[in-house]
Amino acid sequence: MKAVIFRQHGGPGVLEYTEVPDPSIGPDEVLVRVKACALNHLDLWIRQGIPAYRISLPHISGCDVAGIVERVAAGVTTLRAGDRVVLAPGLSCWACPECRAGADHACASYGIRGAATDGGYAEFTVAAARDVLPIPPTLAFEVAAAFPLVFLTAWHMLVGRANLQAGESVLVHAAGSGVGHAAVQIARHLRATVYATVGDDAKIPKAQALGADQVINYRREDFEARLKELTGGRGVQVVIEHIGPETWERSVRVLAKRGRLVTCGATSGPSVPLDLRYVFSRQLSLLGSMMGTRADLEQVARLVGQGTLKPIVDTVLPLRDARAAQERMLRRDVFGKLVLVP
Ligand SMILES: [Zn+2]
Repeated sequence: MKAVIFRQHGGPGVLEYTEVPDPSIGPDEVLVRVKACALNHLDLWIRQGIPAYRISLPHISGCDVAGIVERVAAGVTTLRAGDRVVLAPGLSCWACPECRAGADHACASYGIRGAATDGGYAEFTVAAARDVLPIPPTLAFEVAAAFPLVFLTAWHMLVGRANLQAGESVLVHAAGSGVGHAAVQIARHLRATVYATVGDDAKIPKAQALGADQVINYRREDFEARLKELTGGRGVQVVIEHIGPETWERSVRVLAKRGRLVTCGATSGPSVPLDLRYVFSRQLSLLGSMMGTRADLEQVARLVGQGTLKPIVDTVLPLRDARAAQERMLRRDVFGKLVLVP
């Protein structure tokens, strides 16, 4: 089959569109013909190489896969060839105490498709039958591939961690990013007041269309000063943070008393200063979040299927252009998701 692989860590230039052997399926697994695979920032991290993800090389990236079941192992009764499916990006053991308690994203052996395993930058990929979800006939493969990882992540941040309530206010950084565009829609769905930042005026109407009440271009305006103005000096109850040092200190300072900051990423770097006086005097909660539970995924899949949440596909590119797609993601020249099709 055709696939995009890398044989060594490095910049986008290490990606190679080439011929590799077809994967084979084991017990309880299915072979899926990939129809669409969305990009995620994780693809860039693992290509670059970070200690948290030790992978074997050569490697095939791609966490978010939609496709058609090609073949099922003997004993798989829940799926058959021809089914239109989307794959869960989170991989859990389903046997440990965390998994049995419904916290399968805290599983001792938790992994992410396309990082812990080969992923969807290919014509075929393998999944355990339990990690395969049906997609409604109305949903295009490109759209189905665009939602799992980022909507799951944003849902868990807002609902599972921040416990966002109707009538509260939330700041979502980078509304044009994968997690950002999901968080704006979910916060709106939960009837919160949504403030969003973007880095380009052209993204302002797009963020408003997703449901943001106020959109701030962080390149033109200081989002901290503007938010203080917009909230009458009170600040916001929740900040969805996934940027890191570029925004962190101001993200802490814009929190209202008893505010919650939830972080799921660090696209501008891993280390930040923290003024503890803000944390105790304002009684803040700093919450880490990674991925979400299977129940979260099923919930967002329902809402996407109903059309309540709408993954935005910025551009669909052929698989052979994976390198150009990753370069574009690095430039932040995206609103929503980039999707590869074999
Ligand atoms: Zn487990």
